Amino acid sequence: MAITIDRDRINQLIAEQTELLNNNTQKSREMYEHASQHLSGGVASSYQGRDPWPIYISSGAGDRITDVDGNEYYDFHNGFGSMVQGHAHPAIGEAVAKRFPLGTHFGVATEDSVLVADELARRWGLPKWRFTNSGSESTMDAIRIARAYTGRDTVMKIFGSYHGHHDTVMVSIGVEYDKIGDRENYASLPYGAGIPQATVDMTVAVPFNDAGAMERRIERLAAEGRLPACVIMEAAMMNLGVVLPEPGYLEAVREITARHGIVLIFDEVKTGLAIAAGGATEKFGVKPDMVTLAKVLGGGLPSGAIGGTEEVMAVVEDGTVYQVGTYNGNPLSMVAARASLEEVLTPEAYAHLAALNDRIVAGCQAVIEKYDLPGYAIGIGSKGCVTFSTAKITDYETFKENQDVPLCDLAWLWNMNHGIFMTPGREEEWTLSVVHTFEAVDEYVRVFDELAAALTA
Ligand code: PLP
Repeated sequence: MAITIDRDRINQLIAEQTELLNNNTQKSREMYEHASQHLSGGVASSYQGRDPWPIYISSGAGDRITDVDGNEYYDFHNGFGSMVQGHAHPAIGEAVAKRFPLGTHFGVATEDSVLVADELARRWGLPKWRFTNSGSESTMDAIRIARAYTGRDTVMKIFGSYHGHHDTVMVSIGVEYDKIGDRENYASLPYGAGIPQATVDMTVAVPFNDAGAMERRIERLAAEGRLPACVIMEAAMMNLGVVLPEPGYLEAVREITARHGIVLIFDEVKTGLAIAAGGATEKFGVKPDMVTLAKVLGGGLPSGAIGGTEEVMAVVEDGTVYQVGTYNGNPLSMVAARASLEEVLTPEAYAHLAALNDRIVAGCQAVIEKYDLPGYAIGIGSKGCVTFSTAKITDYETFKENQDVPLCDLAWLWNMNHGIFMTPGREEEWTLSVVHTFEAVDEYVRVFDELAAALTA
């Protein structure tokens, strides 16, 4: 039985740590004041924002980054899970430097895009690939391909999953818990304003880890003449901390979607190249009809990809669907992806990531047990987190019901003030890089131990 942490103690530590972080980031405050004049909210993406001001980074090398105040951190944020290669990896730097004088953009395919497609086909066991510039573009195009292939409009997703910022998938994520409705019949709710209601209504969400609920909803939709074109999902959810699929769940989803002629899309924007060489598809041994990649693929340059079966991608090849984009397969992104796949994300690198992650997860779990904290450590591949909850999180409902929000906020502040750069927000996890050392992960655990001691003092 975990201890009950004194709420006043959490609030007091949050106040102290907030003041400390504000004092230590005064140059970021100044930059924010300047930035806010012409950069909306002082940031390039709303997810980069933070109250009272964002922390601006000046440089990164290997597993460390430095902010504009000169504070140094071990980076466990890694660009929202993109920099599994670590910062400024020499192999990627050399490849990009050699490419630059040869020209950086033609709007025409280069050899590197051919070789990257070959390697992705090998890793995922899916024969046909296309490139994009981001995860959002990948999921947007994948859904269009699935709609064209099936001739259907409805899209099924998992409640609470994020798949990027285009209208179809900005539905039923991060919404207020009391509005979600009954799990057999979740509401379709827009995530922010500006999304047409007609589009919202076309996206239907079901709970993660519940194949029965998915099948029943599919059958009801079929009866209404609205059988989904696709199910788009993460095989392991990466935006409620880390939530793994329960045994048999993915196999059941595969069987149900195949039986109904629904295209199964694994959105591997976060898991792809991060939890195994061939992502979640390799890790869990269940093969979707399509996958979407981004983040890790470009090794720090904007890039995304869509992989699919011969049958599904035929609608692209025969011109039924326009899968297009001026910067798709950009030579710099492709040369970075090639160097990353050939020289950085090797079998040895994945073995190192596994060893690091085992050590950080075990270390955090030992701290939880030492102090009887309400929570557990969980990880897979390069990803993991401490989930502050007394109950196991298996889906959005259990997450919303059980996550200790103030404790998450405190842990983030504490990390930042103790040299650990972490993803903001209560939904994110750590991402390790292939150049993280055992020293770095031991430091993460040591800082967590200090937090636990302060909480229970
Ligand atoms: N899909 C998943 C699973 C994601 O986590 C994200 C971003 O975090 C996206 C898609 C969108 O990717 P991007 O931000 O590159 O558009």
